Amino acid sequence: MTKVLVTGAGGFIGHHLVSYLRKQGHWVRGVDIKHPEYAATDANEFVIRDLRDPAAALASARGVDHVYALAADMGGMGYISSNHARILHDNTIINFNTLDAAHASGVARYLYTSSACIYPEYKQTETSVTPLKEEDAYPAQPQDAYGWEKLITERLCAHYRDDYGIETRIVRFHNIFGPLGTWDGGREKAPAAMCRKVAKAKLTGAREIEIWGDGEQTRSFCYIDDCLDGLSRLMASDYREPLNLGQDRLVTINQLADIVCEAAGATLVKRHVPGPQGVRGRNSDNTRLRQVLKWEPRISLEEGLGRTYVWIEEQVRRSLLAHASSSGS
Ligand code: NAD
Repeated sequence: MTKVLVTGAGGFIGHHLVSYLRKQGHWVRGVDIKHPEYAATDANEFVIRDLRDPAAALASARGVDHVYALAADMGGMGYISSNHARILHDNTIINFNTLDAAHASGVARYLYTSSACIYPEYKQTETSVTPLKEEDAYPAQPQDAYGWEKLITERLCAHYRDDYGIETRIVRFHNIFGPLGTWDGGREKAPAAMCRKVAKAKLTGAREIEIWGDGEQTRSFCYIDDCLDGLSRLMASDYREPLNLGQDRLVTINQLADIVCEAAGATLVKRHVPGPQGVRGRNSDNTRLRQVLKWEPRISLEEGLGRTYVWIEEQVRRSLLAHASSSGS
């Protein structure tokens, strides 16, 4: 039985990953500064620890064979574009501590979760963007500090592999979404925010939703179940370079809103308002993903958003009821 550490196990992907690894028969330790918000963890051991502390990182990595490093201070565009110093500072410390602890503890394999946010801004200026290949990362010019930190930690993984022999794997996620992800409070990402806005409008009888910008900015979105399959395949593979993991179907944010409205059975007007939009267009080139893993994500955006919407509508319903009962109406 492989013993696995998942950092960020109280977060969206980490929580799902713990359950996935347990189903595969692994022993799993989860570490985070918070418990999962929406469901109990399946981890064999779940420890509240702050990985900015090197001693906490060392205690977390002790006795495990594999590490999936997901812990990060992160959120959607609104959060990432307004917390540069904190994100660069804290995430660098978390990742340097965790990789160092894994090396000191004799961990055999280490998977680092990087992001499509590492790709240079100058390659993402059009809505009809050319899908991004792994080698497009350089010359580097990520838009935000979040992307710079991811790029630096990618380099650290490569150097720890070459200098110290720890087998590192690097995945670049492209917009992962699904149930049990943050859906309100400021850190939510576009699919969850869209589901919340549509559910709130539907349940309160409002006729419109707000969209940041003109809604013509483009992205690709990947459902959580595909993400977990891809992660476990990459960890098991002998591929050592960074690899994209996402869907390669490009949609505008306006189209994303339409698919969510369809899932909700609601007809709503889109009101475009100023707001952070990130790069103008971003898509994943999955050529290497297919070559390396002999696999690619298969769950359609409609199916994934349908499942996510059902869960978020239920969260919104509960929150509206709680608000109504606390205000006595
Ligand atoms: P998330 O915010 O839900 O999970 C991250 C977890 O890290 C949180 O539970 C948080 O409490 C924890 N954390 C933060 N600071 C910590 C600290 N000092 N010590 C211990 N734990 C700490 O995010 P997620 O969507 O599950 O993302 C997981 C990883 O994947 C992150 O590294 C993120 O940057 C990366 N990623 C995610 C996406 C996506 O679309 N969700 C895209 C690209 C990259």
